[in-house]
Amino acid sequence: MPANIIDGRQLARRIQDEIKRAVAEQKTETGTTPGLGVVLVGDDPASAMYVRMKRRACERAGLRSEAQLLPAASTQAEVENAVRAFNCNPDIHGILVQLPLPDHIDEEAVLNEISLAKDVDGIHPVNLGRLGMRGREPTFTPATPTGVMALIEETGQSIDGKTAVVIGRSNIVGLPAALLLTNANATVTICHSRTRDLPAVVKRADIVVAAIGRPEHVKGDWIKPGAIVIDVGSNSLPDPASEKGYRYVGDVEFEAARELAGYITKVPGGVGPMTITMLLSNTLKAAQGAVNG
Ligand code: NAP
Repeated sequence: MPANIIDGRQLARRIQDEIKRAVAEQKTETGTTPGLGVVLVGDDPASAMYVRMKRRACERAGLRSEAQLLPAASTQAEVENAVRAFNCNPDIHGILVQLPLPDHIDEEAVLNEISLAKDVDGIHPVNLGRLGMRGREPTFTPATPTGVMALIEETGQSIDGKTAVVIGRSNIVGLPAALLLTNANATVTICHSRTRDLPAVVKRADIVVAAIGRPEHVKGDWIKPGAIVIDVGSNSLPDPASEKGYRYVGDVEFEAARELAGYITKVPGGVGPMTITMLLSNTLKAAQGAVNG
C-alpha cells in the first residue's frame, strides 16, 4: 500500500491560523504586534524569493516585517550594524539573517551579533550549542528542522527508541535535525558526502530525513518498509512542460519511495511551508517573551 502523505501545506495552514489568532489577541491585550526583521545581503534570486515569501506569510498572519536589503559589496561592519539595529529596535522581536552570506562576510561573527532573545531561527552559536548539550534549553530551535519534527509528530508515530538517519550535516538543517531527533530519543546516524554505503545505512532507518540538495539522490528501494520519510531537499530542474520552465523536486525519489514508506512528505508541499510557519511561531513566542519580560 502506498505511503500516507504528510501534508505540510495543510499542517502549516492549521498552525498559521492559530498564530494569526494569537497575534490578534496579543495586539488587543498588549498593543504589541510581533515583528520580524530580515537581513538580506546581495541579490541572489533564491534568497530574495525566500525573503519575499517570509514577508507575505508575516502579512497574512498579522505580524510586522521589516527587511534590511544590503548590497553584495557591503562590509562586515555594515552587515553587523544591520543586525545591531534590529537588536535595539523594540518593534522587532525576531531577527533572521538570510543565508548564505557573500563569501567575504564572516558568517559566524554576524550570527554572534543576534540577540539570543531575538534569535528566532535558532542559528546563534549559543542556541545551537545548547541544543546539543544535555540539560540545556535553547531559546529557539532552527525553523526548518523544527518543521521536520512537527511533520514527524503529525504521523502520530512515536519517535522514542526509533532508528533515524539524517542525510546532510549543515548548520541550518542536517545537524540541528539530528540533535532534535536525538533529544526526542531516536538513535541517530548522520550521513554526509563521505558516508560509505549510504543505501545500507538508509535501509536500517525507521525515520529518514534527507537534506542533501541533490535531486532524487535517495532511491525508492533504499527505504525500509513502513519508514517515515521527510524530504527537506528543494531542487529546481528544467521542465519545458511547465509554465515556469522548471519544477521543484526533492532529494528523495518520491514515487518509488512512496511504495515502501509508511509516511512521506512531498516536494513542494512538505517541509517548505513548515519552515516559514516555525519562523512565525518563534517570532510570536519572542514577542510574548518581550511583553512578559
Ligand atoms: P548544504 O549546506 O549544501 O548541505 C548539504 C549536505 O548534504 C552536506 O552535509 C553534504 O555533506 C551532504 N551531501 C552532499 N552530497 C552528498 C551525498 N552524495 N551523499 C550524502 N550526503 C551528501 O545544504 P542545506 O542548506 O542543508 O540544504 C539541503 C537541502 O535542503 C537543499 O536542497 C536546500 O535547498 C533544502 N532546504 C530546504 C528548506 C525548506 O524550507 N524546504 C530549508 C533549507 C534547506 P558534506 O557535509 O560532507 O559536504
